Amino acid sequence: TKAGNILRVEGLKVAYGGIKAVKGIDLEVNKGELVTLIGANGAGKTTTLKAITGTLPNCKVEGSLHYLGSAIKGNHSFDLVKKNLAMVPEGRGVFTRMSIHENLLMGAYIRDDKAAIAADIDKWFSVFPRLKERSAQMAGTLSGGEQQMLAMARALMSHPTLLLLDEPSMGLSPIMVEKIFEVIRNVSAQGITILLVEQNAKLALEAAHRGYVMDSGLVTMSGNAKDMLNDPKVQAAYLGEG
Ligand code: ATP
Repeated sequence: TKAGNILRVEGLKVAYGGIKAVKGIDLEVNKGELVTLIGANGAGKTTTLKAITGTLPNCKVEGSLHYLGSAIKGNHSFDLVKKNLAMVPEGRGVFTRMSIHENLLMGAYIRDDKAAIAADIDKWFSVFPRLKERSAQMAGTLSGGEQQMLAMARALMSHPTLLLLDEPSMGLSPIMVEKIFEVIRNVSAQGITILLVEQNAKLALEAAHRGYVMDSGLVTMSGNAKDMLNDPKVQAAYLGEG
């Protein structure tokens, strides 16, 4: 593995019974990059993320997955969290009966540096002021956008070496989508390495350094994100309304 490589996926194939969801894809994420994986509904993006994080149901996974130079295929998601690989799943998964503050503490459960944890909560509250205002509020009573922010802040509390985001804009109002992308850019600017799965191709490519397009289980295009934004094929297929 070359220096600076955080994640390398080679020849990944995933089948759910007879359904081939991912048909042999390669992708990599290097230190400090914001890489986006875009594509239509059902293209296999979420399945790819779940293969990386070891959260697929019983199904056949072929190919190789390397994180920080080590093979991780078959690793349990809990072990990956201990290796600082954090995932914010589609649908968010915050602890609804806990307050915002308690959710953030849960995000730091693999750490035992109390003072630094408190300092980090302050830091992420400054990035997510809406969360700070609602610190004692039950997470289940937050709006969809606020829950997305909380899920991201909670993942960031684990000090991720790699942050995987699955469709953070899904189901949010346009204003909230803008806010979420503002936060993603901010987190990336702090040097945190991110793999972002998104259906909002325009915003994702505008924020990212590099991109991959998935279609029917295959990577059909990849490259510099700004070049992809200007590519007529990408524009025709994925940037329609933007
Ligand atoms: P979306 O944006 O809709 O989440 P996606 O690109 O993330 O799309 P996947 O969720 O990875 O796509 O789905 C890829 C294919 O695998 C789809 O055809 C889907 O129906 C199928 N699939 C996903 N999960 C399962 C499952 N648990 N059992 C059977 N088939 C599945």
